[in-house]
Amino acid sequence: VLIVDDEEHMCEVCARTLRRSGYVVSSTTDPHKAVDMLRENPSFDLLLTDIKMPGMTGLELAHIAHECDPTMAVIIMTGFASMEHLHEAVKQGAADFLAKPFELEQLRLAVIQALNKRILLRNNVRLQAFEHLLEYNRELNASLDQRVVAQTFLSEILKQTGCPLGFVLFVQQDQAGPLFLLNASDATAELSDAGYGLATNAFENNETIQEHNTTFATLGQQAFQYALAIPLRAQTAVSGALLLCHSQPIELLPGRSEEVALVTNYASSALRNAHFYHRLNEAYQNLQELDRLKGEFIAVASHELRTPLSIILGYTAMLRDQRFNDPREYAQRILDSAQRIKDIIDDMMSLRHLETSDTRPQLVAHEVQDIIQQLTQHVRPAVEERRQQLHVDLPEQALQVPTDYERLQLVLNHLMSNAIKFTPVGGQITLLVRRYTHNELSTATSSATFAVKRDFTNASSWVIFEVRDTGMGIADRQLPRVFERFYQVADSLTREQGGVGLGLAIVRELVQWLGGMVWVVSREGHGSTFAVALPQ
Ligand code: ADP
Repeated sequence: VLIVDDEEHMCEVCARTLRRSGYVVSSTTDPHKAVDMLRENPSFDLLLTDIKMPGMTGLELAHIAHECDPTMAVIIMTGFASMEHLHEAVKQGAADFLAKPFELEQLRLAVIQALNKRILLRNNVRLQAFEHLLEYNRELNASLDQRVVAQTFLSEILKQTGCPLGFVLFVQQDQAGPLFLLNASDATAELSDAGYGLATNAFENNETIQEHNTTFATLGQQAFQYALAIPLRAQTAVSGALLLCHSQPIELLPGRSEEVALVTNYASSALRNAHFYHRLNEAYQNLQELDRLKGEFIAVASHELRTPLSIILGYTAMLRDQRFNDPREYAQRILDSAQRIKDIIDDMMSLRHLETSDTRPQLVAHEVQDIIQQLTQHVRPAVEERRQQLHVDLPEQALQVPTDYERLQLVLNHLMSNAIKFTPVGGQITLLVRRYTHNELSTATSSATFAVKRDFTNASSWVIFEVRDTGMGIADRQLPRVFERFYQVADSLTREQGGVGLGLAIVRELVQWLGGMVWVVSREGHGSTFAVALPQ
């Protein structure tokens, strides 16, 4: 209790009485000193003040007390002459009064009543704050869209802190950075590098940081030089940061920092939930797509295995029944079909092996001319069977490339057999090899869809193997997918060509393993160019 009366004896009597009832009492005869005491010490529950004092009225003092704590109990001691002034304050419930002279018992009763009233008032204020928090929490959880949640959070936090501008930044993957900007409280606001850096600092070090003297954000012409970055914590994980910006120092009012912490904690949980929902949804979509591909794969693979198997069964039965003229011809067909089955199984196994093994390639320098000669020898029968023309375009000077010979053959073979398969009878296939600097390579691939891409400046020069065809081509939206396992452009029922959708997935894995790049450029209906670049 703080007692203020310019009559020292009055102070003394009231203080003794209240102390005897167990209250902790301070008293002063100077209302200005009382103001300092109220401002410095936030733990007063009750102000008992005379109405008429030199320099300041009791009503003015009550007003200041309510600025410090709106729920503070105030009792004004007054003579009947000053009742008029008091009337309004009492009517508004801001103060109670005690008419002088009063009995000490009256004083005790008035104090009890005023303090009870304060308890009710405080509970009411808390209830209102609680209701508001509940409403805010309900709004946060009404959406699983991170941006909507961030917007709700920002408008609440700006109200709480009085800051004009705020940004919510969040991680893209689970706990790892970098942060990306989820939302700004104003769509036209720009977050500067310093602002982004401060938010990242708060996120990485899991601490609230305040800084000034550099531009953290701008809004039109206005630059904000003061910023407060708060990590967004949900349970034990830190998943992002809030950045508040101001043109003047950011100071939270006493009692506000707990509210800010609460509002931020709620938002962190809601943002994390929305994040996980989003990831779960993505995983679910992927799973559904994988399931569809699996179904397709089973249909395609069983068809691809059944065809050569039927040939084997048919010819073997004929051999058994000895219904043949030349057994070697039939034996050859059986061998071809068995070889096709073996190839499919080899593809499946080599992809599995590539995806799970962590051996490093042994790179040995090989002549490009030798590589291409073996390749053309191998594919020529298939090209001739489809009466296609094969152009081989090699550099004039001998060229070497450090690589794993067998694996590179496998890669080029897959690309060549696709070109042959997806180019009509009589079409043209070009096999081109060149040496490129990284600038030439970067220009040549400007419109390409990469399956494996590396830093162009990694090597001073690259050897490029290009397989160009004049076939059916691939639509733009399918280009990024053709390197996926099991993916085939045509579905299993309408497919004209054989294959189980593993060839390009193997190419991608092998090129990755060899340290190179692979890409495709294609125009539907006009043809495709698949290319592999190996660092020299
Ligand atoms: P598959 O063995 O079934 O051909 P790939 O992984 O080698 O599987 O190729 C995947 C898909 O990409 C093919 O089914 C085809 O639709 C498309 N594709 C690959 N190469 C070409 C090409 N040169 N021209 C047109 N489409 C192609």
